Amino acid sequence: MAFRLCNKDRMLKPGKCLICETHPGHRVVDTGYNLTAATVFDKLRGRKYICSGCGEKIGKALGMITQVQVNAMKTEIDRLTAHAARLEESLAMQDRLDQLTEYLRRDDAASVENESAASPGGD
Ligand SMILES: [Zn+2]
Repeated sequence: MAFRLCNKDRMLKPGKCLICETHPGHRVVDTGYNLTAATVFDKLRGRKYICSGCGEKIGKALGMITQVQVNAMKTEIDRLTAHAARLEESLAMQDRLDQLTEYLRRDDAASVENESAASPGGD
């Protein structure tokens, strides 16, 4: 059975996180499983939910990253992407500058040759 995000208002009894045994304040995962055994866990009998806080702790123990870390990475990706675009633009400008400089060097050399050809030994 697939785990699904569950709206807190739609939680079945006992309406608590199976792990921390609290009424979650925000996101909750419905495991789709039920606790039916009559044991010391009676107060948790019913649908098994896991709150986002416990879910993050489980994920961390398994080496996963949190949504906060994912968001920070996305922000960093956006910043680096914008920086890369500026660098790319700067490289294009440098390339155009190099082309123009090279063109003028050739033109200057041609002008110097023409001037010396027009007046070979001076006046
Ligand atoms: Zn919990």
